Amino acid sequence: IWQDVPLAPPDSIFKLTAAYKADTFPQKVNLGVGAYRDDDNKPWVLPVIKKATEILLNDPNLDHEYLPITGLPEFTSGAAKLILGADSPAIAEGRAVSVQTISGTGANHLGALFLSKFYHWDAPKQIYLSNPTWANHHAILRNVGIQPVDYPYYDPATIGLDFKGFIGTLQSAAPRSVFLLHACAHNPTGVDPTRDQWKEIAEVITAKNHYAFFDCAYQGFASGDLNNDAWAVRYFVEKGVPMLVCQSFAKNAGLYGERIGALHIVPPTKDAADRVRSQLSVLQRSEISNPPAHGARLVSLILNDSALFDDWNRDIKTMAERIITMRNELYRLLTEELKTPGSWVHIINQIGMFSFTGINPSQSQALIDTFHIYLTANGRISMAGLNTHNIRYFAESLDKVVRG
Ligand code: PMP
Repeated sequence: IWQDVPLAPPDSIFKLTAAYKADTFPQKVNLGVGAYRDDDNKPWVLPVIKKATEILLNDPNLDHEYLPITGLPEFTSGAAKLILGADSPAIAEGRAVSVQTISGTGANHLGALFLSKFYHWDAPKQIYLSNPTWANHHAILRNVGIQPVDYPYYDPATIGLDFKGFIGTLQSAAPRSVFLLHACAHNPTGVDPTRDQWKEIAEVITAKNHYAFFDCAYQGFASGDLNNDAWAVRYFVEKGVPMLVCQSFAKNAGLYGERIGALHIVPPTKDAADRVRSQLSVLQRSEISNPPAHGARLVSLILNDSALFDDWNRDIKTMAERIITMRNELYRLLTEELKTPGSWVHIINQIGMFSFTGINPSQSQALIDTFHIYLTANGRISMAGLNTHNIRYFAESLDKVVRG
């Protein structure tokens, strides 16, 4: 048995991390994985998480009972306010359906599974994904019988947004198509629409009766401000655009391994919301039965206590500002000191953890082979992997590779 199971290739990002770990070169650099590192290249446990953990440890009433199927209620209500806004009309009208999920991946999965079963598909089942997107989106959709199709997003000529192509596809797609949108800090490109562009996107989605499937894995990471990074999602809710949003606390709370996230679906009426919630409960029950408690308790403490919430905002700023400092320094090294050929302004224009450098796959491979700098073949680097100790080495190596 199992002799005929096709051998699958390893996940490319995790393969890259394994190669980095095995490399004994002292100046090696890992720019592959999307996890925050401090200036000493160490994982960072947020001070607010340490505080919240302490509170949990000292709670005499803490037990290990099952959470409700849809999650810890104080967590899901706080999470909804965080992404939709405390004064969101959808929350006030009882139209926001929030379910705790296995981080952002689980939210994407549950959202896709729900759409696969209940969306009014004018066959075939397909969802539009930005080209490029987080690679896992394709697999998550296929797993629930939805075909991923591309919409133009990244323009290699400008290392920026192909807004014309994007809007063109929104306009030409069949009515009631589903579009997956990165709420902020687009992965892998770091290229986001401007607010004016979001307004146009919302307008076409409304006119064509499309459905917006938001993925928000980096709230706070993009600008250092949680409200600012939720702007597009809140604008869509305010305009009554039919939508859902997947939320992750992996990056902004540094809770990668705790797998804490939420799916929020915003139907037009409370009656529809009650129906949607009932079916999400059925789906969740058969898949994970009850979501895990630890991360939900930590995030719930932070979301529901104004002092801890302030601490968290400060920690998010620490992370976002370090990343922005690295962007500025990389730009300065390439343009002022090294005078590296090409325009590098995209390094400071791009948003969030990732930057698309614009280098080609053979240049990326040369960085790995010659300089022990690990990055994905598409030229994406995680800015969080850069720090004051390795940024010059990286800039000089990139300069050499670009000069050929
Ligand atoms: N969506 C996007 C766009 C992401 O980049 C990620 C993290 N790499 C996720 C979702 C999900 O991450 P997690 O499951 O760790 O929350």
